[in-house]
Amino acid sequence: MLIACPYCGPRDVAEFTYQGDANRPRPDPASTDLDAWNDYVYQRANPAGPHREYWQHSGGCRSHLLVTRNTLTHEIAGVAFVRSAPVPATKPAPAAPRKRPASRKAKP
Ligand SMILES: [Zn+2]
Repeated sequence: MLIACPYCGPRDVAEFTYQGDANRPRPDPASTDLDAWNDYVYQRANPAGPHREYWQHSGGCRSHLLVTRNTLTHEIAGVAFVRSAPVPATKPAPAAPRKRPASRKAKP
């Protein structure tokens, strides 16, 4: 499989490192919603067809790339620098319920 790095040109996939799914919105870093973070860290889609992925040209210019790859045929439909690609929206953090501190009672 060849990936056409926008800076270096077509290179073998062995020069690249897969960096993950580019479709998952990251929760707000200030969020304490454990379900949202659990979904972000552990849940993965397994699409059959076009898929947006992060790759790094680790054996070349070290650029971070957004690659649109067909997971069935490995055909690459597009490659762009991540810095010039739109970033997936961040999920807004739901309001965390406020917990009341346990009241301390003096021992009799
Ligand atoms: Zn490159």
